[in-house]
Amino acid sequence: MTGPTVPWNAAWSAEASYEIRPCRWVGGRLALWSPHKPGEGKPIFAKPHMVRQRRSIAEMRCTVCGEKTPENDRWWFKLGRIQEGYFMTTEAPVHHACAAYALTVCPHLRGRAADLEPLPGGYSILSAIVGGPAVDQDFGIKIDPARKIIGSLKLAWPAHRIRVEERS
Ligand SMILES: [Zn+2]
Repeated sequence: MTGPTVPWNAAWSAEASYEIRPCRWVGGRLALWSPHKPGEGKPIFAKPHMVRQRRSIAEMRCTVCGEKTPENDRWWFKLGRIQEGYFMTTEAPVHHACAAYALTVCPHLRGRAADLEPLPGGYSILSAIVGGPAVDQDFGIKIDPARKIIGSLKLAWPAHRIRVEERS
Protein backbone atom coordinates (compact mmCIF):
# COMPACT_ATOMS: atom_id res chain seq x y z
CA MET A 1 0.00 0.00 0.00
CA THR A 2 1.11 3.55 -0.53
CA GLY A 3 0.15 6.52 1.53
CA PRO A 4 1.19 10.01 2.47
CA THR A 5 4.87 10.41 3.31
CA VAL A 6 3.85 12.99 5.90
CA PRO A 7 1.13 12.05 8.37
CA TRP A 8 -2.03 14.16 8.32
CA ASN A 9 -1.41 15.21 11.92
CA ALA A 10 2.09 16.59 11.34
CA ALA A 11 2.59 20.35 11.30
CA TRP A 12 4.24 22.16 8.40
CA SER A 13 6.65 25.05 8.70
CA ALA A 14 4.13 27.42 7.08
CA GLU A 15 1.74 26.57 9.93
CA ALA A 16 4.22 27.40 12.70
CA SER A 17 2.59 30.52 14.07
CA TYR A 18 0.35 30.45 17.08
CA GLU A 19 -2.62 32.34 18.41
CA ILE A 20 -5.26 31.71 21.03
CA ARG A 21 -8.70 31.14 19.55
CA PRO A 22 -11.91 29.33 20.46
CA CYS A 23 -11.71 25.79 19.11
CA ARG A 24 -14.68 23.80 17.84
CA TRP A 25 -13.01 20.51 18.77
CA VAL A 26 -13.09 21.43 22.46
CA GLY A 27 -16.58 22.87 22.57
CA GLY A 28 -15.53 26.41 21.70
CA ARG A 29 -13.11 26.79 24.60
CA LEU A 30 -9.91 28.75 24.10
CA ALA A 31 -7.05 26.76 22.63
CA LEU A 32 -3.74 27.10 20.85
CA TRP A 33 -4.42 27.69 17.18
CA SER A 34 -2.26 27.54 14.06
CA PRO A 35 -3.19 28.30 10.46
CA HIS A 36 -4.17 25.33 8.29
CA LYS A 37 -1.63 25.10 5.47
CA PRO A 38 -0.69 21.45 5.13
CA GLY A 39 1.89 20.82 2.42
CA GLU A 40 3.40 24.30 2.64
CA GLY A 41 7.04 24.55 3.61
CA LYS A 42 8.63 21.60 5.37
CA PRO A 43 6.91 18.97 7.53
CA ILE A 44 7.65 19.07 11.24
CA PHE A 45 7.28 15.43 12.20
CA ALA A 46 7.95 15.86 15.91
CA LYS A 47 5.17 18.39 16.40
CA PRO A 48 1.56 17.65 15.56
CA HIS A 49 -0.57 20.48 14.21
CA MET A 50 -2.54 21.65 17.24
CA VAL A 51 -5.94 21.93 15.59
CA ARG A 52 -5.63 18.69 13.60
CA GLN A 53 -4.39 16.90 16.73
CA ARG A 54 -7.49 17.94 18.69
CA ARG A 55 -9.75 17.12 15.77
CA SER A 56 -8.18 13.68 15.34
CA ILE A 57 -8.85 12.79 18.98
CA ALA A 58 -12.30 14.41 19.09
CA GLU A 59 -13.43 12.61 15.93
CA MET A 60 -11.24 9.49 16.15
CA ARG A 61 -9.52 10.37 12.90
CA CYS A 62 -6.49 8.47 11.70
CA THR A 63 -3.16 10.20 12.42
CA VAL A 64 -1.79 9.01 9.10
CA CYS A 65 -4.56 9.71 6.57
CA GLY A 66 -6.96 11.99 8.46
CA GLU A 67 -10.08 9.93 7.70
CA LYS A 68 -12.38 8.74 10.51
CA THR A 69 -11.55 5.36 12.00
CA PRO A 70 -14.59 3.08 12.30
CA GLU A 71 -14.80 1.22 15.60
CA ASN A 72 -13.84 -2.04 13.92
CA ASP A 73 -10.68 -0.54 12.36
CA ARG A 74 -9.22 1.62 15.13
CA TRP A 75 -5.68 0.73 16.17
CA TRP A 76 -2.83 2.14 18.22
CA PHE A 77 0.82 1.52 19.03
CA LYS A 78 0.41 1.95 22.79
CA LEU A 79 2.50 5.11 22.78
CA GLY A 80 1.92 7.14 25.90
CA ARG A 81 2.67 7.15 29.57
CA ILE A 82 1.23 6.68 33.00
CA GLN A 83 0.39 9.85 34.85
CA GLU A 84 -1.70 10.22 37.99
CA GLY A 85 -3.15 6.74 37.71
CA TYR A 86 -4.05 7.04 34.04
CA PHE A 87 -2.39 5.81 30.90
CA MET A 88 -2.44 8.83 28.63
CA THR A 89 -1.63 9.36 25.01
CA THR A 90 -1.83 12.30 22.65
CA GLU A 91 -1.69 9.90 19.69
CA ALA A 92 -4.89 9.56 17.70
CA PRO A 93 -5.79 6.08 16.44
CA VAL A 94 -4.83 4.71 13.05
CA HIS A 95 -6.42 2.43 10.46
CA HIS A 96 -4.73 -0.95 10.29
CA ALA A 97 -3.60 -0.39 6.71
CA CYS A 98 -2.26 3.06 7.62
CA ALA A 99 -0.42 1.60 10.61
CA ALA A 100 1.17 -1.08 8.44
CA TYR A 101 2.24 1.59 6.00
CA ALA A 102 3.56 3.89 8.74
CA LEU A 103 5.69 1.05 10.10
CA THR A 104 7.56 0.98 6.80
CA VAL A 105 8.29 4.71 6.60
CA CYS A 106 8.17 6.22 10.09
CA PRO A 107 11.41 6.12 12.13
CA HIS A 108 9.35 6.95 15.25
CA LEU A 109 7.68 3.54 14.95
CA ARG A 110 10.75 1.46 14.18
CA GLY A 111 10.58 -1.82 16.06
CA ARG A 112 7.03 -1.26 17.31
CA ALA A 113 5.15 -3.63 14.98
CA ALA A 114 4.40 -5.96 17.88
CA ASP A 115 2.73 -3.12 19.79
CA LEU A 116 0.01 -2.59 17.21
CA GLU A 117 -3.31 -3.51 18.81
CA PRO A 118 -6.95 -2.52 18.55
CA LEU A 119 -7.52 0.68 20.50
CA PRO A 120 -9.18 -0.26 23.78
CA GLY A 121 -12.55 1.26 24.57
CA GLY A 122 -13.47 2.93 27.82
CA TYR A 123 -11.23 5.93 27.34
CA SER A 124 -11.86 9.49 28.44
CA ILE A 125 -10.83 12.51 26.43
CA LEU A 126 -8.83 15.01 28.50
CA SER A 127 -7.62 18.49 27.60
CA ALA A 128 -4.02 19.45 28.30
CA ILE A 129 -3.81 22.98 29.68
CA VAL A 130 -0.76 24.80 28.39
CA GLY A 131 1.29 27.64 29.79
CA GLY A 132 4.61 28.41 31.39
CA PRO A 133 8.08 29.30 30.12
CA ALA A 134 8.69 26.11 28.08
CA VAL A 135 5.43 26.57 26.20
CA ASP A 136 6.07 30.28 25.70
CA GLN A 137 9.40 29.44 24.13
CA ASP A 138 8.08 26.55 22.07
CA PHE A 139 5.24 28.52 20.55
CA GLY A 140 6.58 32.06 20.66
CA ILE A 141 3.47 33.25 22.45
CA LYS A 142 2.87 34.31 26.04
CA ILE A 143 0.22 32.24 27.77
CA ASP A 144 -0.99 32.84 31.28
CA PRO A 145 -1.67 29.36 32.76
CA ALA A 146 -4.55 30.89 34.73
CA ARG A 147 -6.45 31.35 31.46
CA LYS A 148 -6.61 27.56 31.03
CA ILE A 149 -5.69 27.54 27.36
CA ILE A 150 -5.99 24.09 25.80
CA GLY A 151 -3.15 22.52 23.84
CA SER A 152 -3.49 18.87 22.90
CA LEU A 153 -6.30 16.47 23.62
CA LYS A 154 -5.42 13.17 25.25
CA LEU A 155 -6.99 9.75 25.42
CA ALA A 156 -6.86 8.37 28.95
CA TRP A 157 -7.62 4.99 30.50
CA PRO A 158 -7.28 3.91 34.11
CA ALA A 159 -3.64 2.73 34.18
CA HIS A 160 -4.45 -0.81 35.30
CA ARG A 161 -6.41 -1.40 32.08
CA ILE A 162 -3.40 -0.87 29.80
CA ARG A 163 -0.51 -3.31 29.75
CA VAL A 164 2.66 -1.86 28.31
CA GLU A 165 6.25 -2.84 28.72
CA GLU A 166 8.35 -0.11 30.23
CA ARG A 167 10.73 1.29 27.66
CA SER A 168 13.69 3.47 28.43
ZN1 LIG B 1 -5.79 6.04 7.93
